[in-house]
Amino acid sequence: MNHNRHSPGRIYRRCGCRGKHGKQLGPRCPRLAADPRHGSWALAIDVPRTIDGRRRTLRRSGFTTHSEAETALAKMRQNLAAGLRPDPTETVAAYLLDWLQTVGPRLRPATLARYRAYIDTLARTLWGSRTRPGPVNSSDG
Ligand SMILES: [Zn+2]
Repeated sequence: MNHNRHSPGRIYRRCGCRGKHGKQLGPRCPRLAADPRHGSWALAIDVPRTIDGRRRTLRRSGFTTHSEAETALAKMRQNLAAGLRPDPTETVAAYLLDWLQTVGPRLRPATLARYRAYIDTLARTLWGSRTRPGPVNSSDG
């Protein structure tokens, strides 16, 4: 049997509005129901668990239309099913940090810290900053 092990994912609208405690309301903002142009479309898909079994969800937002989010979600599901990284626009730094999170639980703390420092140095050296790394070269056709 070839079970579909992959989450179908979800598409929803969300915005950046914050509630009275400063927390983002996300999909719960009341203006979303009132105004169809408020916020943007977003997706969420469960990706393989970490080595220690924690669930992980990949989220992307900022899509203009439902179908744009749907197309991106379909592509992610296809990539996951093929054993590839779900998001072809993922940066190298994001990939490495995610990998570190996956293997982290079986590393000694000192090793984990050293790997993290390598990634930071790499990101700064190659892309000038840790927050704005360049895109991964994708062979995606
Ligand atoms: Zn809102």
